[in-house]
Amino acid sequence: MKHKNIPVFIPHLGCPNDCVFCNQRKITEHTEFKEEDVKKTIDEAVSTLTPEDEAEIAFFGGSFTGIDRSLMIRLLELGKTYIERGAVSSLRCSTRPDYIDGEILDILKKYGVKTVELGIQSTDDKVLAACRRGHSSAQSFEAMRLIKENGFELIGQMMTGLPGASPVSEIKTAEDICKYADGARIYPIVVFRDTELAFMAEAGAYEPYTADELIKRTADVKEVFISHNVPTIRVGLQANEGLTGGDEIACGGYDEAIGEKCDALIYSRRLVKLLDGYKGKSAVIAVAKGHTSRASGHKKENKRKIKDLFDIDVKFIEKDIPPYTAELCEE
Ligand code: SF4
Repeated sequence: MKHKNIPVFIPHLGCPNDCVFCNQRKITEHTEFKEEDVKKTIDEAVSTLTPEDEAEIAFFGGSFTGIDRSLMIRLLELGKTYIERGAVSSLRCSTRPDYIDGEILDILKKYGVKTVELGIQSTDDKVLAACRRGHSSAQSFEAMRLIKENGFELIGQMMTGLPGASPVSEIKTAEDICKYADGARIYPIVVFRDTELAFMAEAGAYEPYTADELIKRTADVKEVFISHNVPTIRVGLQANEGLTGGDEIACGGYDEAIGEKCDALIYSRRLVKLLDGYKGKSAVIAVAKGHTSRASGHKKENKRKIKDLFDIDVKFIEKDIPPYTAELCEE
């Protein structure tokens, strides 16, 4: 079975929080949320599913469990009708740690939510304060604990490049998420126009990162998830998360291919380690099934790098080995 999310974007209308990186207000200013369109969106997506697809309706966007309670229930009721007629297997939603408690989880369970994506962003209280996130790391730990205790699948979302963050705090955040989560999403920071973060950058209170710096920081974090066998289900924003073109970005680097480039960097590290001291002009290297292009790197840059560094021509083969491992094979 192939897992598919049917994303339904629910902007967090009237969100009382004030996260410095938030572009939701801008999105909601320009996007009129029409509840009646939700059914149409789901129907269209359901009509494209094949019998091999195992689908979840995913209420993404702001903080699903923080929106108006009656709207949340109506959306859950709608989602449940698709489970009942076998069109999807379950529901999924994203939310903030301070919008999780026992009562909310009971409601989610009742309507068939299986997966909760939690916007943790950082487990460093100094970073949360600098981002004016409005919740503490203790609330994130408690929410993660409650979500798992109640039998949900947990996806921990974190960000790299936040104000006040360091490589150490980002690695620690990933390690904290690994203690609870079944999967992770990593969002490298994007400095959107007209956000508090953009004003902070203009005033010199925040130093924006280059795309290469963000790729490195994000790859370092992804390495933590790999080492704990916690799959990273996505790196970077999706098209419906407010990034439709470069015009929305105020400053700092952002690379649309950041996910691919993080993978390339991770494989490049593996290859350099594996081939250091290798005697020979060519090498056959096994990687996991479906990972040849990631290992080869963006525009085959890893193959070129190995040639430049060690004068070795690399050929990849795919084997049944864990993702992000590389094994030297007999030629
Ligand atoms: S990012 Fe923060 S301010 Fe923006 S919608 Fe989410 S909780 Fe509200």
